[in-house]
Amino acid sequence: MKRNIALWALLAAFLLSLNGCMGPDRSNRLVVIDAGHGGHDCGAQCGGRQEKDLVLQIVKKLQNEFRSEGYRVYMTRGTDRFLKLGERTHIADQKDADVFISIHANAIADKSRFEQVEGVETYYLQKTRDGRSQRIAQRENEAVLKGTDTLSRDVIVDSVLAGPKVVESHKLAIDVQNNIMRRLHSRYPDVKNGGAKAAPFYVLVGASRPSILVEVGYITNSKERERLFDPKYQERIAEGIVEGVNHYLDNRQKELGI
Ligand SMILES: [Zn+2]
Repeated sequence: MKRNIALWALLAAFLLSLNGCMGPDRSNRLVVIDAGHGGHDCGAQCGGRQEKDLVLQIVKKLQNEFRSEGYRVYMTRGTDRFLKLGERTHIADQKDADVFISIHANAIADKSRFEQVEGVETYYLQKTRDGRSQRIAQRENEAVLKGTDTLSRDVIVDSVLAGPKVVESHKLAIDVQNNIMRRLHSRYPDVKNGGAKAAPFYVLVGASRPSILVEVGYITNSKERERLFDPKYQERIAEGIVEGVNHYLDNRQKELGI
């Protein structure tokens, strides 16, 4: 009799674990992941390392992580190549993605502060008066805006700021930022939380879906640079992003009553 009960308990545990493995059906969800820069545009560079290489390593981990959670994934680039302005978000629209996530690494110009400035920040597209956010956007915008005059730059930003996607992108940014920090802090408690912020990033212009840009850390800070190129650290960032997107899309589904 005792043996029977034990067998039933084992069977029940097995069935429960099966259910846990299957999880919610996310096969109708599509994310577009964008590795910043590429080709002749190396992005930020420091200590012999380049932003374009780092973000490519991270998006590959992110792709695996999203797939294992049942998502469909599309990457704007899976190799070292340059994409023109608008090409990245155009891909997200063409594919009818649920969210668009651009991955970047941060840098500062002032060498004397390299070892003081560090941390993770998540941005959504919005004009801002904050000088620091403006400077970060300016650096990231440089390569994509070559040849575009100031007037058309303002027009393209203005054209996308009126929609509900600003609110949705802000929510997505908060969820992703919080979950990256949770994942990183459980192993690296000293990582600085730069928060979810607004900035006029041109890579997000033209996206008609919730879109964010994650600055995974400062390549100019030696401690952070070393961590950023560590596959285990990259894995935690990828897990955090996926958990943030899960949280955001699950909540949106509840709100819409689907
Ligand atoms: Zn960048």
